[in-house]
Amino acid sequence: MERRTFCKSGLAAVTAGLLPYGHLIAAPESDVPAIGLDGRELLLKPKDVEDFRRSLRGQLLRAGESGYDSARAIWNRAFDRKPALIARCAGAADVTAAVNFARTQGLLTAVRAGGHSLSGHSVCEGGLVIDLSSMSGIRVDPLGKRARIEPGVRLAQIDQEAQAFGLAVPLGTVSDTGAAGLTLGGGFGRLCRKYGLACDNLTGADVVTADGRFVKVSEKDNADLLWGLRGGGGNFGVVTSLEYRLHAVGPMVFGGTLVYPFSQARESLRSFSDFIATAPDELFVFVFLAPAPDHQRVVVFDVCYCGPVEAGAQVLAPLRMLGKPVKDSLAPAPYVALQSADDADNPPGRYYIKGGYVHRITPELSNAMVDYLEHTPADNTVIAISQFGGAISRIKPAATAYWHREPNHEVIVLGFWDNAAGAEQTTQWVRGAWKTLARFTDGYYVNHGGYDESERRVHANYGDNYPRLVALKRRYDPQNLFRLNANIKPAA
Ligand SMILES: Cc1cc2nc3c(=O)[nH]c(=O)nc-3n(C[C@H](O)[C@H](O)[C@H](O)COP(=O)(O)OP(=O)(O)OC[C@H]3O[C@@H](n4cnc5c(N)ncnc54)[C@H](O)[C@@H]3O)c2cc1C
Repeated sequence: MERRTFCKSGLAAVTAGLLPYGHLIAAPESDVPAIGLDGRELLLKPKDVEDFRRSLRGQLLRAGESGYDSARAIWNRAFDRKPALIARCAGAADVTAAVNFARTQGLLTAVRAGGHSLSGHSVCEGGLVIDLSSMSGIRVDPLGKRARIEPGVRLAQIDQEAQAFGLAVPLGTVSDTGAAGLTLGGGFGRLCRKYGLACDNLTGADVVTADGRFVKVSEKDNADLLWGLRGGGGNFGVVTSLEYRLHAVGPMVFGGTLVYPFSQARESLRSFSDFIATAPDELFVFVFLAPAPDHQRVVVFDVCYCGPVEAGAQVLAPLRMLGKPVKDSLAPAPYVALQSADDADNPPGRYYIKGGYVHRITPELSNAMVDYLEHTPADNTVIAISQFGGAISRIKPAATAYWHREPNHEVIVLGFWDNAAGAEQTTQWVRGAWKTLARFTDGYYVNHGGYDESERRVHANYGDNYPRLVALKRRYDPQNLFRLNANIKPAA
């Protein structure tokens, strides 16, 4: 085992071996360069860093320390950032210490839960990452139909615990996504048309606000903050615990994939648009215009029907008759199997995304998508259409911070690559596609945006809810410590 030099204060007297390895780390001997909230360089005093480290039950990591590189890697590897410090929090006390340290030092601060931020907001260059990924406790109350989770929990973990009782929280479509980030921005998935977005099912939370206060949030306590957490993202503090409403689901549902050749894309999308407009709320379909291994593109309908299993085949019959499928795996399936079926297609890598809501998949929109793909082939790109509507649209826009209740779909353009040349080519491809498709869209989904959001764009996206969000931001984060997100500025 490598022996390291103990710091001069305190720890030097402690016998090696009595403490976990995380503590056997040299204290910095000189100032630690970092980036401040205003983007300017600042220097952290070694003693302050050491005091912070010793105040944590979890670990504090700096460049060069074991675990630093894996802790700074997020799902979207396009963001290769090197924070000055990563606080791997073990609980709410660590989060409070980290928030207090960040505020008093004026440090640029990122909050990381599941690490699936597409826009890279959960890691920052030169600042502090408040890393919640080790906080992964879950408690399911099957009688009260509630689940309480810590913020490092992934969708697969909560699905597994809740499905043990035939229950589920409406969450996302890829099982290693973090529940916290997904929920705070909205959170759509296979159950959302039946039971609402993830944020609509958030019934309570614990939050450490920018001033280091621990705030309990529910319909009764600080209800204004609960309203803000339901779609307002990570703007108001670090959420250390989330409580959800559970619903009876499965364990068997009906679903799988139905794949048509790309030559049938125009007709398939037109018929799908009519079909889905009157489909029951129990049905969720994610559509992908995706590359296939033989370099031919295909149209994939990724289906989950969460109503009675025996009704599934009948409900899906019209979708099966759109043409001659090259694959049809629709059948009764465990809900948890469908929840992880797309995981292999979404590995960590370098990605760029654009997206926006649409009210209806019009022939003009589907033709524009198909035309772009036909004229600009690229094997490393996907255009996808997800589904909203149903229970989501029956909640009034002002009832939660999440504003876009009317659009029935979201269109996403996604590109992925391996090397620097691929980055330029792929982002240009995605931007080109978006130039063609943006005119069909109305606002964007916060969790799929965030690269270069202007205040005007964030404002427009939150519609009439924006002034209320600004008032909340002023109250809970007047210095805008939590700014690495679709940022609601306190001064607006
Ligand atoms: C492969 C993949 C599949 C996806 N599928 C879906 C989908 O089906 N449905 C859907 O709605 N979205 C989906 N998304 C988008 C996803 O909702 C967002 O990327 C979300 O932010 C991920 O949450 P996270 O906790 O994993 O991310 P992180 O990167 O850890 O966090 C993202 C941001 O959320 C905020 N945040 C996270 N946790 C906290 C907290 N505890 N307190 C305060 N702020 C916090 C921070 O601002 C942080 O920067 C998908 C993303 C990926 C990469």
